[in-house]
Amino acid sequence: MKVLGVGLIGTGYMGKCHALAWNAVASVFGDVPRPRLAMLAEASQELADRKARELGFERATGDWRSLVSDPTIDVVSITTPNAFHPDMAIAALEAGKHVWCEKPMATRLEDAERMLAAACASGRVAALGYNYIQNPVMRLIRRILSDGQIGEVNHVRLEMDEDFMADPEDPFYWKSEASSGHGALDDFGVHPLSLLWVLLGGVRRVCAHMLKPYADRPVQGGGRRAVETYDIATVLLELESGASGLLAVNRSAWGRKGRIALQIFGSKGTIVFDQERMNEVQLYTADGAKDRQGFCTILAGPQHPPYDRFIPAPGHGLGFNDLKIIECHELMRRIAGEKAHLIDFEEGVRIERTVHAMARSAHERRWIEAGESESGES
Ligand code: NAD
Repeated sequence: MKVLGVGLIGTGYMGKCHALAWNAVASVFGDVPRPRLAMLAEASQELADRKARELGFERATGDWRSLVSDPTIDVVSITTPNAFHPDMAIAALEAGKHVWCEKPMATRLEDAERMLAAACASGRVAALGYNYIQNPVMRLIRRILSDGQIGEVNHVRLEMDEDFMADPEDPFYWKSEASSGHGALDDFGVHPLSLLWVLLGGVRRVCAHMLKPYADRPVQGGGRRAVETYDIATVLLELESGASGLLAVNRSAWGRKGRIALQIFGSKGTIVFDQERMNEVQLYTADGAKDRQGFCTILAGPQHPPYDRFIPAPGHGLGFNDLKIIECHELMRRIAGEKAHLIDFEEGVRIERTVHAMARSAHERRWIEAGESESGES
């Protein structure tokens, strides 16, 4: 495996998370060469210089285009607001770089399709930031399902709730602008859909409702601005497997801090997971004596790889940033030509089609096929 030159665009919440992953991946896994943190880009040279010092990057630039064309860079992490993803990812792929882009792919389906076309034309690895699929507990859930331990899955409930937009007096920022996408659907909905995709497969049809809980928000410097995105969405799902489902997302849900709750109901049992308790899974199986039945709690431990690469002791727990380190390792393996557990642009576009079908369904107030084109979306 060659030493990768890493470029990072954006150093906010996710930028720091990617930087920590690139810094830690070789130490945690011990089987990949330590990447060279070649350059980072920020919105200004001054900010870029400061962040490069903090995050351990050799060089800094206020112009992301000079980063993607730099010959010492092999892979580009894109962690900027959603609207920037298509231009940055396509430019990086056209310059021959591998790309690790944060979700959602883009705010418009046609841009996500262009990103996929650029990835196919380049032959480079193009992966998305769907870190929750990397939880060792998710891999356990996959095994429980494939072992048939809960029988045939007939229903799934997916919820993602946080309260960072719950206060109506919090100032207007980019997540309330239409340029960021539909709102909670593509900000949040894509995450539970990524879990659904790896655990149970695709979605056939959707019927959605979206809501703006607050009509406007205060603007810095005075006045108020109309909110353009929908912070709440509720969607009925029909899966390709024939199972039914329900997706509920809310980024104005007071009290919820990082909930991604999953309930999978089968003919012989039930699996329950919540990201707020990301180191455990609840399993109910209908076998055994009726008077002893109940959910059991399985705590994550070294028997659930790659937990063992972080900590030898069970029950001590991984954290959110560790999922990004695992994702980074999978990306490096894919770049080296190995089999890896990632959502690439091809699978990502399927998630995007589903999300855009949901938005269209909400606007047209009818069921929509998940693969239907975006034309007619208002
Ligand atoms: P953020 O606002 O914290 O950070 C964005 C950064 O991009 C800022 O530092 C900003 O200065 C920088 N930036 C803006 N314009 C730039 C430009 N032209 N050139 C270089 N840098 C520029 O946002 P965030 O919360 O980190 O979200 C970024 C992306 O990450 C979004 O697409 C979001 O959906 C995604 N995200 C993913 C997860 C996850 O769990 N995978 C979690 C949160 C956010």
